[in-house]
Amino acid sequence: MSQYESSTIKSRLHLILSQIAQLNQTSQQSTQLLAVSKTKPATDIIEAYQAGQRCFGENYVQEAVDKIAELKQYQDIEWHFIGPIQSNKTRLIAENFDWVHSIDREKIASRLNEQRPAELAKLNVCLQINISQENSKSGTDIKQVFELAKYVSQQNNLCLRGIMAIPANTDDINQQKQSFAQMQQIFNQLKAEYDSVDTLSMGMTNDMALAIEYGSTMVRIGTAIFGARAAKNQDKN
Ligand SMILES: *Cc1c(COP(=O)(O)O)cnc(C)c1O
Repeated sequence: MSQYESSTIKSRLHLILSQIAQLNQTSQQSTQLLAVSKTKPATDIIEAYQAGQRCFGENYVQEAVDKIAELKQYQDIEWHFIGPIQSNKTRLIAENFDWVHSIDREKIASRLNEQRPAELAKLNVCLQINISQENSKSGTDIKQVFELAKYVSQQNNLCLRGIMAIPANTDDINQQKQSFAQMQQIFNQLKAEYDSVDTLSMGMTNDMALAIEYGSTMVRIGTAIFGARAAKNQDKN
């Protein structure tokens, strides 16, 4: 049994929040916690909500939309879509989410912009960057980030907030640092160019501390709060 299996969602959430607070003290910044609830039941989300958590991240559109409907009464939950986006799923995302972290091409941005309902606030957007340059990972190429940022910034129903990455899973600390440093640099460049940019979405359960050291403003934490996940069939996306 790992340390995460041993206690309640509430106590694990509070542990993570105190770790973030401590890391922020050293780096004099303020990092937000996005609780990643993919594959977990709505009851787990309610438990985290009752412990004070308001921002939740989901990866699979249909699963997420079902949970959002089920949790409709919790009106101050902020829903973040963080998974890969297929173009036939953009409407559901545009209609149900407050944030999207995983925009990696103009076509997806354009569809989300067109499909965002007029009565809703602008959809907050982070561009996903393929920081480790792996063919298998989603995300836009580093060279294309600024062009995509310009495109998104011109869409009326989207608000460009920043960038997101999922660095390659590696034990090589120098490679991890290099990826985070690169993200930080791109973030600072975008921030200088766009007033709306304030979000550097990086850091998960295994690399949270290092990500905060490199300026993360939003860590996306699943396992450390909700426990290990069963393998998920990607086809259900
Ligand atoms: C699943 C997921 C997370 C959370 O990962 P943990 O290791 O469980 O903390 C964060 N970001 C993205 C994009 C994910 O898909």
